[in-house]
Amino acid sequence: MDMLRDTVCVQGGYHPNNGEPRQIPIIQSTTFRYETSEDMGKLFDLEASGYFYSRLQNPTCDTVASKIALLEGGCAAMLTSSGQAANFYAVFNIANCGDHVVASSAIYGGTYNLFAVTMKKMGIDFTFVPSTATDEELEKAFRPNTKAVFGETISNPSLDVLDIERFANAAHRHGVPLIIDNTFATPIFCRPIEFGADIVTHSTTKYMDGHGACVGGCIVDSGKFDWLANAERFPGLTTPDDSYHGIVYAEKFGLEGAFITKATAQLMRDFGSTPSPQSAFILNLGLESLHVRMKRHFENALAVARFLSKHKKIKWVRYPMLEGDKYFDIANKYMPEGCCGVISFAVEGGRAAAERVMKALKVAAIETHVADARSCCLHPANATHRQMNDRELEAAGITPDLIRYSCGLEAAEDLIADLEAALATLD
Ligand SMILES: *Cc1c(COP(=O)(O)O)cnc(C)c1O
Repeated sequence: MDMLRDTVCVQGGYHPNNGEPRQIPIIQSTTFRYETSEDMGKLFDLEASGYFYSRLQNPTCDTVASKIALLEGGCAAMLTSSGQAANFYAVFNIANCGDHVVASSAIYGGTYNLFAVTMKKMGIDFTFVPSTATDEELEKAFRPNTKAVFGETISNPSLDVLDIERFANAAHRHGVPLIIDNTFATPIFCRPIEFGADIVTHSTTKYMDGHGACVGGCIVDSGKFDWLANAERFPGLTTPDDSYHGIVYAEKFGLEGAFITKATAQLMRDFGSTPSPQSAFILNLGLESLHVRMKRHFENALAVARFLSKHKKIKWVRYPMLEGDKYFDIANKYMPEGCCGVISFAVEGGRAAAERVMKALKVAAIETHVADARSCCLHPANATHRQMNDRELEAAGITPDLIRYSCGLEAAEDLIADLEAALATLD
């Protein structure tokens, strides 16, 4: 039965039979028992599906991954131990040493570092383009060895909204997939696959978990990208894998199975960034209320953004759904029902004033975190983005005085009163 998204949040991916547990079982087992070595051998050869070792796959994790696949409208998904691992795997599954990737420069600081420093050391080149790049600028970024395009639906922390359709069209013109990190929008507000994205990633640490309890990530495949039609560009999927007796992933597992099977069989096997079943269970508790919580995060953020926009001590406030925001129209196109709970703003008086206001907040806490039930704030130039120089900060859409403020699920009136009192310390 096709269920609406709210129902999928609560029940998707797990349908217990007569007498089985109503809540998803935590299969806290590293390994699985088989009657014969032949049975086991078939699993190792990817001739049969089943579990043999929880570094590669675990039933609890798979149950939760399949719920996220349903929410995103994808065909297959895998959990990872963090959002960083999800983005690394999603890119490294198709781009290797000597390859090139086009990425929006308006991305999470950790992802920027992963791409520009660590993956660069692995021989993969990235060209960063503004999220507002024109079609001509996008066109120029491609090279013969380009293997993917990467962007964030709503960027953390600059809150740029990506024109997903335009980036997807550019990627597809060059025969490569578009990978979208949908962490901030969540599938409650945006389903990038509906707009042409091929692979969707998440830091489930944020809204999906939603309670600041578990670091985690997820990769969802749309099953729509035709690897075989672009066979020479993706040899990892379209030529034999010697570590699996010559399996050709795109042939054996088809459009819907190739990407996630390869990422599991090779990357999870070799790098092992697997979440624990216990963490997957906690993530699922968050997913059960994701649709309810996202609405409240949105309402609170809009109320706080409107309050700040009228305050005389505020230099500027950015929230894509705030009337007059430069991304208002595009946010309404991609997220007509709402947007994330994160806003950004700057106070009059620059860096020092920003620090003073943040210190004076009593309801919101200073944390390296966002998208939590508890409101929190951060000064990116001093924390997550401190490895960047001013020019790189500007390219990522972050000014030195930017405060990232994540509206939690508290009463909006209390968040506003807290901000009002903190801003009064500037008088
Ligand atoms: C936090 C975050 C990440 C990294 O996720 P972790 O779970 O912290 O590893 C990646 N992308 C975005 C958009 C994020 O906000």
